[in-house]
Amino acid sequence: MEVRNDVVIRGTDRCDLAEAVEGGEFLSVRRHGKRLFLRLSGGGWLTWHFGMTGRPAWTDGAEERFTRALFVFPRGSLAFVDPRMLGRLGLASSPERYIESKGMGPDALEISRGEFVDAFLEARGPIKAALMDQRRVAGVGNLYADEMLFQCRLDPRAGARSLSERDLECLHRAMRRVLRRSIEAGADLDRLPPTYLLRCRGRGAACPRCGSALRTETVGGRTSYFCADCL
Ligand SMILES: [Zn+2]
Repeated sequence: MEVRNDVVIRGTDRCDLAEAVEGGEFLSVRRHGKRLFLRLSGGGWLTWHFGMTGRPAWTDGAEERFTRALFVFPRGSLAFVDPRMLGRLGLASSPERYIESKGMGPDALEISRGEFVDAFLEARGPIKAALMDQRRVAGVGNLYADEMLFQCRLDPRAGARSLSERDLECLHRAMRRVLRRSIEAGADLDRLPPTYLLRCRGRGAACPRCGSALRTETVGGRTSYFCADCL
């Protein structure tokens, strides 16, 4: 394997990266939250942080537009495609060390119901912001937080501490369901059930449950969609 890279690498010297990767193989892959870890045959792990627009792409032909790094194999290439360049690649001695150094919480698909409830019972600020805080649970982003709250009929602006244990259990179930469905759909929002809010984001959109106009508001620094009539 050879590597060609552009500007996506921050915090890692591009020579170090080439040295760690070239001539070797990827032995296995792991995911934690929004991070991907590829185990290198020469030792250590390559870390992928996708940012908002980054994604992996396999190609055996023309290079995709916005390719920021390319891992070249004899029969094709693995590209890191990232139009907005918010993603980054790096090196780590192990996923555990990396997760610890970033202070990331348990993965959203692994955290138990009890751990989830405990983590949020003592959260401060609006529930939407707490859900997106990767130190509490790793893997929930802006769009998915809105969907979970919508499915549980909860207001994104509500104080996390105002939620009951039952509300939190609903959010835990919704989180697992929404992430699983999205993975099955290959993150293609159009393939999600028609009852999902995720399909309805955009100006003038209507609630998929009751038909009322959706509201938008900034919570935790991000645009939040919700239906005031469904709360
Ligand atoms: Zn509604």
